[in-house]
Amino acid sequence: MDPVSDPVSPLEQALHAARALVLADLAAGEVAVADVVSLVEDSVVQRRWWVEQWPEGAEFVAGLVAQDVQDALLERYGRWPLCPVCGSGDPHALDVEPELGPDPQWVCHKAGVRVAAVGALGPVTGGGSPS
Ligand SMILES: [Zn+2]
Repeated sequence: MDPVSDPVSPLEQALHAARALVLADLAAGEVAVADVVSLVEDSVVQRRWWVEQWPEGAEFVAGLVAQDVQDALLERYGRWPLCPVCGSGDPHALDVEPELGPDPQWVCHKAGVRVAAVGALGPVTGGGSPS
């Protein structure tokens, strides 16, 4: 009845959305790391603390979690997500842009193009290949 007494805070909603978006991109890339979900969880825990200190940053959380997971994967697995745009040359990872801002996107700095929104890599990378 009272919309103010919503049990799910905007912060929790933002964190939940960030977690879902990054997990979707990981699934699209078929990242073969057994504890990849725990990497995401670790980041969400840290960013929960961060956003509690600075609630205005709630809409930046998805981009930050994506970058945290990207950094964690670089140590254990390698570059992620690999650029699906550049067919030749050295394989390289996409970058999150803006690094600290709303509506984060995966971009290829080499080609200078926006590839997909964070959470929308699946259709671009052809995750779940047919045939
Ligand atoms: Zn590229």
